[in-house]
Amino acid sequence: MYYNANTILFLNGKYIKATDATTDLYSQTLHYGYGVFEGIRSYETSNGAKIFKAVEHFERLKKSCELVNIPFNYDTDELIQISYNVLKKNNMGDAYIRPLVYCSPNMQLQAPKEVYLMICAWEWGKYLGDSLLNLCISSYQRPNPNSVKVEAKVTGHYINSILATSEAKVRGFDEALMLDMNGNIAEGPGANFFCEKDGVLYTPPLGHILPGITRETVINICRELEIPLVEKYFTPEELEGIDSAFMCGTAAEIIGINTIDARPMKKKWKESLGATIQEVYKNIVLEKSYADIII
Ligand code: PMP
Repeated sequence: MYYNANTILFLNGKYIKATDATTDLYSQTLHYGYGVFEGIRSYETSNGAKIFKAVEHFERLKKSCELVNIPFNYDTDELIQISYNVLKKNNMGDAYIRPLVYCSPNMQLQAPKEVYLMICAWEWGKYLGDSLLNLCISSYQRPNPNSVKVEAKVTGHYINSILATSEAKVRGFDEALMLDMNGNIAEGPGANFFCEKDGVLYTPPLGHILPGITRETVINICRELEIPLVEKYFTPEELEGIDSAFMCGTAAEIIGINTIDARPMKKKWKESLGATIQEVYKNIVLEKSYADIII
């Protein structure tokens, strides 16, 4: 469960019990999906609980607010400190941290004058990593960038993700892979996508996807390991004959793909570029020294 009788969260300047927290049923966020959030992980490292890419996540939270005109005045250092306080008050190390910026009561279709901030956390076990996903190409496209701000992590956008994941599960798959409005591969409902062919990694460019912080980390790992990486659009047909693929995201971390629309990958996951990146990622989040990284 996400909370119990002892859980403490941060709400508008105060640390209170989750069971004592209330919200207003007239909030614009509840009615119209007009709010902004983040998904952040902390890992219990040999140096204590460490929030991975905290600055990047809170900068994206602020950027998301800006993009959809939600006024938000917290600064990043303050938000990071609050998050560590929440972890400490709940005695958590390996956790998922959820900041949510939501709006005051307002039934109009205009930006709110007042917004609220909630930051909560729940326990989340360390890296699992070994399972592989069976994906299907979703019948749901990612939202059109001419309709919404796709690069913002807005609550209402996740209806699209819920529809896609639910459809995938009903069809007997683990997860969906979604196309953009032009029929190119875009991303998963909550993770970015990479595939490998002939020693090169490919991933869709920014524009029709959420600019994932894990995606950026993967790109940096590729640079570090001199793995050739190309950001380009490609169609589902071009996935035929790929060697391997993976999804990546704060929650998913790096997760290998077994099949796409029941078609298997050419390489075994353990032999793929993704498996190497997965190993490096694991060491980075746990703050292990580079010498500990076995590639
Ligand atoms: N795409 C979507 C639609 C997502 O919801 C997420 C998760 N935030 C990602 C990609 C991955 O982003 P990140 O690596 O920043 O968690």
